[in-house]
Amino acid sequence: MAAAATCHSPARFTVSCSSTSAAAPGRPLRVAVVGGGPAGASAAEALASAGAQAFLLERNPSGAKPCGGAIPLCMLDEFAIPRDLIDRRVTRMRILSPSNLVADFSRALPPGAHIPMLRREVLDSFLRTRAADAGAQLVPGLVTSLSLPAGPTDPYLVHYISSESGQGQGRGVLEVDAVVGADGANSRVAREVGAGDYTTAIAFQERVRLPDAGMGYYDDLAEMYVGGDVSPDFYGWVFPKCDHVAVGTGTVCAKPEIKRFQAGIRARAGPKIAGGRVIKVEAHPIPEHPRPRRVVGRVALVGDAAGYVTRCSGEGIYFAAKSGRMCGQAMAEEWARTGGVTEAGLRRGYLRRWDDEFLLMFRFLDLLQQVFYAGNAGREALVEMCADEYVQRRTFESYLYKRMVAGEPWGDLKLLWRTVASMVRCGVIGREVDRLRRVELQARELRV
Ligand SMILES: Cc1cc2nc3c(=O)[nH]c(=O)nc-3n(C[C@H](O)[C@H](O)[C@H](O)COP(=O)(O)OP(=O)(O)OC[C@H]3O[C@@H](n4cnc5c(N)ncnc54)[C@H](O)[C@@H]3O)c2cc1C
Repeated sequence: MAAAATCHSPARFTVSCSSTSAAAPGRPLRVAVVGGGPAGASAAEALASAGAQAFLLERNPSGAKPCGGAIPLCMLDEFAIPRDLIDRRVTRMRILSPSNLVADFSRALPPGAHIPMLRREVLDSFLRTRAADAGAQLVPGLVTSLSLPAGPTDPYLVHYISSESGQGQGRGVLEVDAVVGADGANSRVAREVGAGDYTTAIAFQERVRLPDAGMGYYDDLAEMYVGGDVSPDFYGWVFPKCDHVAVGTGTVCAKPEIKRFQAGIRARAGPKIAGGRVIKVEAHPIPEHPRPRRVVGRVALVGDAAGYVTRCSGEGIYFAAKSGRMCGQAMAEEWARTGGVTEAGLRRGYLRRWDDEFLLMFRFLDLLQQVFYAGNAGREALVEMCADEYVQRRTFESYLYKRMVAGEPWGDLKLLWRTVASMVRCGVIGREVDRLRRVELQARELRV
């Protein structure tokens, strides 16, 4: 851990020693980064690398965030993630429709490409250690509240309960110029500054250790299941992990029924996960859209706290790391240029850059979710389209490399035509699947 900064003493309740936090020539920028997931660790690393005094507060440094752990390939290079952290390299993706039509997503995978799967405890710990190596100070502790500044150059006070063993235990206060809220979907920082609420989905996941044959089957294969039985508005998954598979599902509109949908995904995966032993059950909210306010004064929200998860796929690790880095860099650049951090500067340096780069992609994925997850007809059409090589190529391009490339006009025209045709054709299949499910449910009720 880096040497303690002058203003930090977690041993007991402390108010900072510095009397003013106004921009002082030669004094480094001081930032509290709350939350040590990918967003917080990346923000702290960017800040420390730019010479700022960054405090990275994490309530549970040895914890493991409930997560599928799939990241896009481009993240490995962009965030210099060592290849030996990867548990599995998924080269086969399968999406299964309500009627169990299967689309295999391997044909269009570029040579050598794969989807890296990591354990979050491994990834997060690596990113935090790297932030510390860059000079950030890791503070194990739970942030309980913020005291907001009276004026534009007064400091924020960040109150926390240290979980450091020995002398470091107890309450502490940090005095800082700015705060990064990287504390996930239940963000305390967002609440403290009145950033507003967002809708969340609930994601439920069981980690299942399979017999050898089952693990062999999922060695490099990830499965996604769509259908009203596994989720009314999302998908169910079986993702391979180091020594187990993660089997889960999510929903926004029917949260109280999540256990029924989990039973649905177990039933659909059926014999493939038979004989498995559940080693962990976990659930966590996933934001559905950005918070009403992502910058309030000198407080900026990043990652899940800001609401950066794509609705269609539930992907958020890359966007968390990316937004954390972008925000950290924006704060450091403004401080270097002007000797201060301001709300207007954060809007320009962080929010505008973020929106320019990702807003369109998020809107596009929202639209796909609305069109294809709304009912079984749409889901059948989705799977039918996923079998198309052009669709696969474009999907991989945008997921693996985070590029919204312009399509080929003729390919796009054919795709549009096929989409409409699939929707019309699958309207029939989808309605039939819905009818069969209703019949099955009625029969089950009669048996009870
Ligand atoms: C079941 C499930 C599966 C998922 N699968 C995938 C997937 O396969 N791929 C993908 O890209 N995304 C996936 N996601 C989404 C992904 O997990 C998140 O988008 C990502 O973790 C966001 O990172 P973050 O750093 O913003 O927040 P988090 O990872 O949630 O980190 C927040 C951190 O803040 C800490 N914290 C919170 N409050 C405080 C406090 N008051 N004081 C101090 N510390 C605090 C927490 O302990 C935590 O470590 C999944 C999500 C779920 C729930």
